[in-house]
Amino acid sequence: SEKPVILDVRSISAVYGGAIRALTDVSFSLRSGSILAVLGSNGAGKTTVLKAVSNLLPAERGQVASGSVRFDGVSTLNRAPADLVRAGLVQVLEGRHCFKSLTVEENLITGGLGRSSSRREVADDLERIYEIFPRLRERRRLAAGLTSGGEQQMTAIGRALMSRPRLLVLDEPSMGLAPLVIRGIFEALKRLSAEHGLTILVAEQNSSIALAYADTAIVIENGVSVLTGSAADLRSRADIKAFYLGEK
Ligand code: ATP
Repeated sequence: SEKPVILDVRSISAVYGGAIRALTDVSFSLRSGSILAVLGSNGAGKTTVLKAVSNLLPAERGQVASGSVRFDGVSTLNRAPADLVRAGLVQVLEGRHCFKSLTVEENLITGGLGRSSSRREVADDLERIYEIFPRLRERRRLAAGLTSGGEQQMTAIGRALMSRPRLLVLDEPSMGLAPLVIRGIFEALKRLSAEHGLTILVAEQNSSIALAYADTAIVIENGVSVLTGSAADLRSRADIKAFYLGEK
């Protein structure tokens, strides 16, 4: 039996500053517990898709001009991002944001502050995250700014996990990281979806890694969706990779 649709994006068009059209008529849906990759080259519109979902466009003087985004059947477009976080829709922004002078563990704890959890719940949540990212346990007392790029990306993801999301949205988690580190991060995302039922929406320029771990994918070119399908399907079609994703 198929899992319920948790996110439904219907024919959205997005504009910046009332004039620059960044997305035209983009649609996709995401089933609970699955991973959807948003692929495309630099400037294609991937980040705009994610911001539309999390209602972050207004902060950039942008908006969804038409269409709908529904999370659990409810429109996200008129809800404050903090409200969406409480509802379980959490975004990890591009560029692995963490507080450089706080320790790794303090960074993680800040991610749970919106939930007013007991000490016991915080300890349990930290334990779950250290189980997914053993590296962070080793580094927990170190200032985040002194850890590697991969560890900072794990810390940013761990912070998001502290608010117990049901839908995790990630913008280019592979950016600037070595292949082995990227693989480790996607392995962790796969475990979170397979073992913990987390639903994941991930934008990536690195289409080969994203297609290796995603269940479904959408390819965006110039703000238009040119292809959607199962990741297995897209992986097997060499023509697609060469033409849309710039791979040899
Ligand atoms: P990248 O991989 O570089 O993040 P992307 O695929 O995520 O690229 P977007 O960042 O969504 O692409 O950008 C899509 C289009 O919208 C681009 O043409 C970009 O110049 C434009 N754009 C993005 N942000 C703004 C903004 N704040 N104001 C005006 N135009 C913007």
